[in-house]
Formats: sequence, C-alpha cells, structure tokens
Amino acid sequence: MTGFTTNAIHAVSNNEYEAIMPPIHLATTFGQPTDGTAGPYEYQRGGSPTRSDLEQALATIEDAKHAFAYPSGMGASAAAMGILNSGENLILGMPSYGGNYRFATVELPKRGVGVRFVGDFSTLSDDDFADNVKMVFWESPTNPTLQVSDIAQIAEIAHRNGALLVVDNTFMTPYLQRPLDLGADITVQSATKYLGGHGDLLAGVAATNNDELATELWRAQLINGSVLSPIDSYRLLQNIKTLALRLDRQQENAQKIIEFLQDHPKVQQVLYAGGASDEQAEIQARQARGNGAVFSIKLIDTANIKAFLDALTIFDFAVSLGGIESLICLPATMTQEAYTQEHLDEFGVDANLIRLAIGIEDAEDLIANLDQALAAA
Ligand SMILES: *Cc1c(COP(=O)(O)O)cnc(C)c1O
Repeated sequence: MTGFTTNAIHAVSNNEYEAIMPPIHLATTFGQPTDGTAGPYEYQRGGSPTRSDLEQALATIEDAKHAFAYPSGMGASAAAMGILNSGENLILGMPSYGGNYRFATVELPKRGVGVRFVGDFSTLSDDDFADNVKMVFWESPTNPTLQVSDIAQIAEIAHRNGALLVVDNTFMTPYLQRPLDLGADITVQSATKYLGGHGDLLAGVAATNNDELATELWRAQLINGSVLSPIDSYRLLQNIKTLALRLDRQQENAQKIIEFLQDHPKVQQVLYAGGASDEQAEIQARQARGNGAVFSIKLIDTANIKAFLDALTIFDFAVSLGGIESLICLPATMTQEAYTQEHLDEFGVDANLIRLAIGIEDAEDLIANLDQALAAA
C-alpha cells in the first residue's frame, strides 16, 4: 500500500497530451446521447469532470468510497445535518464549531429537528437517544477547548441506538485521523482550513462509505446547488498534495511553541489535544497521528490580553486556521459568537481563552514573537 502523499499526488491521472496535470473543465453543460441513455455528465451542478477529479482524490485520502466537494465547510455540515427529517433529533457534541452550532440552533428547528447538547462523550448513554435521536454530530478535538473523545466508542453507542455518527474532522484532517475507519458514518471538514491550506480558498468536503448516505450527500449538491466550482476544485486538488508536508511542519512548530508556553510565567494554562489528562493523551495517541497544530492558552489574571495581541507582529488576529500563516483569535467573541452566554459558560469557551493556529513559519521566529508579546502583556 502506498502512503498518504503518494496517494494524494497520484489519485488523479490524465494522460491526454501526456499532460502531467489534469485540465480544468469549465463547461456548465454536456452534450447527451439522443437515444435516452445517460452520458457521463449532463449539467455542472449535478457533476463535472474537474469536481470528479477532486472528489476522487478526496475519497482516496479519506480511504472512503465516496467524497463530495461543497463551496464551504458549512456547505458540507449542512449537507450532513440536512439528512435529518422533521420529528428527528440531533445530539451536538460541545463545544462545537460556531457555524455548526448556528446551523443546529437556527436552521434545524425550522425543519422540525430538535437538538441536544452534550459536552462530555464519556457521559453519553442510551438515555440520551430516547427521544428519536437519529444523528450525533461530533468534533474531536473540540474547538477551542481541544477536548478529545473516543470516536469508536461514540460510534458504538450511536449505532446501538439507531443513530448515525458524523464527525467534523477539520482540526485533524484525514492525514492525522480517519473517523470512517473508527466507525463514523460520515466525515465533514472545512477544506478552507488545512486541505486548502493557504488562506485563499473556501471549500468543504463530506465523505462516506455508505451508498445511501452518499446519495443524500450528492442530493445536497444537486438540489441545494451547493457545489464547488471547477477552478476552486482544481486549486483544492493541487493543495491537498502538500497537506502532509505542511501539517508535519505545523505540528512540529506547535509542539515547540506549546513547550515554550507551558514554561512561561505569564501563561496560566495551555489546552491542546490530549493534553488535559493521561486518559485524553491515550485516546488521542490511539486514534490520531499527532496532536494537530491548533491549541488554546489562558494568560495569568494580571496579564493584559489586548496588549499581548497588539504586540504580536507575525500572528494575525483573525479567525480561521490551517493555513501556512499563523493566526490568533478570541473564540468567545469571534468563532463562537453565535453561542448563548449559558453555552459559552457551560462548555468552557471563556472570554479569556486565546486560540492559536500555527503555520509553517520558522518556529524560532514564532516563539520570539510570542515572547516579546508576553513581555508586553
Ligand atoms: C471553519 C470550520 C467550519 C466551517 O467551514 P467554512 O469553510 O468556514 O464554511 C466547520 N467546522 C470547523 C471545525 C471549522 O473550523
């Protein structure tokens, strides 16, 4: 079996003119046989060659039978949650990404779908499913508290109760973690983050091994019109080829920075995947290849957060993650702004929690930049 990057680079071949890279097909419509049989493509919303190339490559790196490309990560999340019918309920793992929370709290009620919020997988029991729960939507690690959950165990509880498990795998990517192999029914991710990786492409992916679920995910493209354009499909196809290289460097940088921050007198706490306890470390080590490159910190009470942020020159103060550039944000008022105050409090998205997403810059520069900003805090 060939490795992740070999697969990512060679998933799509196109030998027309001996071209090393596949072409970009921009056509919106395709000539069809007049005898009533189906051609390979009809109309771009339903499917097109360049999107197919991308989806084939995405399925290859996910080790999935089917993958679908959407114009944003939320397009993928909406396609997955959109499978639920009126009268059914969803369990949302908390804290969830703010956009997933918004979809679950604003859009699902309009469709007659109810939501139950669960903050700790180890408390998940059969009783939670009593009320016609048909889907569990979970992230591991969570955003921005970096709590890790045992995906195989959640899958088992969900399946035992007749519910699907959808895992938002944005923070880990299929390079570090394969939820489908651990029993999840669908994975979704924001390709805007690590897969795209350069802060200039909005896209999303959903993948599954189940043919019926694949039909539903495809319908979300065809019926909702939620499709990635050929040019963006091509750009994402190129960017996933360097995913492993970028993530290796990002993880290596993050590890060095975490070690630096853990010893710093102005830092009260560092929250990273697997860092909270031996049990969390064991789960993360078992189900993922590394801890990723996003983590959060709390400064000591006397530190001035604004002065710290203002003194940073390499880190941009902005939402998002997974790009080659390092970013820093305050989740409570930025990525999780849709949360009620009760949910911010209940699930640990504290106002003083600072989230860092580490890029591929030189680690010593990032550390020096944080060091002088902590001095100014
Ligand atoms: C960013 C993000 C999304 C949404 O993706 P978009 O591409 O911004 O629509 C979903 N889940 C997680 C965990 C994210 O970080």
